Amino acid sequence: MSYMKSLKCRECGKDYAKEALHVCELCFGPLEVSYEYDKIKKILSRDVITARRPNMWRYKELLPLDNEPSVGGEVGFTPLVRAKNLEKALGVKELYIKNDAVNFPTLSFKDRVVSVAVSRAREMGFTTMACASTGNLANSVAANSAACGMPSYVFIPYDLEQTKILGTLVYGSNVVSIKGTYDEVNRLCSEIAGKYGWAFVNINIRPYYAEGSKTFGYEIAEQLGWKLPKNIVVPMAGGSLITKIWKAFKEFHTLGLLDGGLDTKVYGAQATGCAPIVTAVKEGTELIRPVRPNTIAKSLAIGNPADGYYSAKVMRETGGWGEDVSDDEIIDSMKLLAETEGIFAETAGGVTLGVTRKLIDQKRIPKDESIVVCITGNGLKTQEALNGKIVQPVVINAKLAEFDDLVRTEKRYAVKA
Ligand SMILES: *Cc1c(COP(=O)(O)O)cnc(C)c1O
Ligand SMILES: [Zn+2]
Repeated sequence: MSYMKSLKCRECGKDYAKEALHVCELCFGPLEVSYEYDKIKKILSRDVITARRPNMWRYKELLPLDNEPSVGGEVGFTPLVRAKNLEKALGVKELYIKNDAVNFPTLSFKDRVVSVAVSRAREMGFTTMACASTGNLANSVAANSAACGMPSYVFIPYDLEQTKILGTLVYGSNVVSIKGTYDEVNRLCSEIAGKYGWAFVNINIRPYYAEGSKTFGYEIAEQLGWKLPKNIVVPMAGGSLITKIWKAFKEFHTLGLLDGGLDTKVYGAQATGCAPIVTAVKEGTELIRPVRPNTIAKSLAIGNPADGYYSAKVMRETGGWGEDVSDDEIIDSMKLLAETEGIFAETAGGVTLGVTRKLIDQKRIPKDESIVVCITGNGLKTQEALNGKIVQPVVINAKLAEFDDLVRTEKRYAVKA
């Protein structure tokens, strides 16, 4: 049973059949999946959801498939952690980490969008998966395609982290490394998609893919006890996740699943070395000026973001804001999260926490309101960012006397009372 109605143009409202389309032929606006909310409201209650298994398909009526998913059955329902130590460090009252660094199977939030995209592509009869990726999408497309026996082609900029390249190749994916930025990779992939007829998850089937991000928002609301946070800070690359979290909150509100109102302020986070959306928000303009990325936060390095305009709109409409942080601030926040909460996030996580700290300092986020920080990827995948930034262990021989010496002479090994 599917409640997916049509693909609808976000600009002019024209309806399209549920096919592999992504732009409106009349106005070139992006297409978005629409649903029969009146029917969903009659069957989807808190009890129905909580009786289901803890994965993202517990919200399946709000996802764009005609049938049950054919891959990624265990994706999602990652922890929402109350971050007591981090609260103390930042002087705030109520802070949570939504931790997709431990999402199944490839340790980033991209497993949500990819399991939807691959399942939908198979429903539509595609036999080859593909993507243009900044790293995490590559991992997830390769893994999920392998899991359902489909070949995949993954296109990446040549300067990605080694672990992200390895973590794509291992699944037997056809990886093509392009001499260029992500935006150049993306442009090439649009041409390839047209010519080869493959399902590019984030290009020709983007409307379905993007819906998977909503589950990140549904889970936060459910895990907070069917309430929304007052503030949420979201990392932005193409700007899809932030708009879909907001769509998720609005849908839960429409369906009457929430206690309290729809009064979350949504904040967007980028690295200073690639901040086209944040810049537009700060300058109060609707125009997103493309940039050439230069940052260690490679997973967020999209200089010409597809959903930049709509993300800026979400920040504006909810009373949120956008901020950016330098590479040094990113590393500092990766360390702070690890040392206070025992969570090793990738560079994107450093961006999000760094921006959260900045917004608290600026008093844009009040210290006594609830805050959710969205952690979207795992630190083990971006280890080179920490090269030379972490103290190395002292090497000694396996002799007690040498250890005694160390404790006596090296301050950081001193035994604490
Ligand atoms: C892709 C990605 C994002 C943001 O994705 P968009 O939806 O394109 O804004 C955030 N964090 C990580 C780790 C990612 O890989
Ligand atoms: Zn249109």
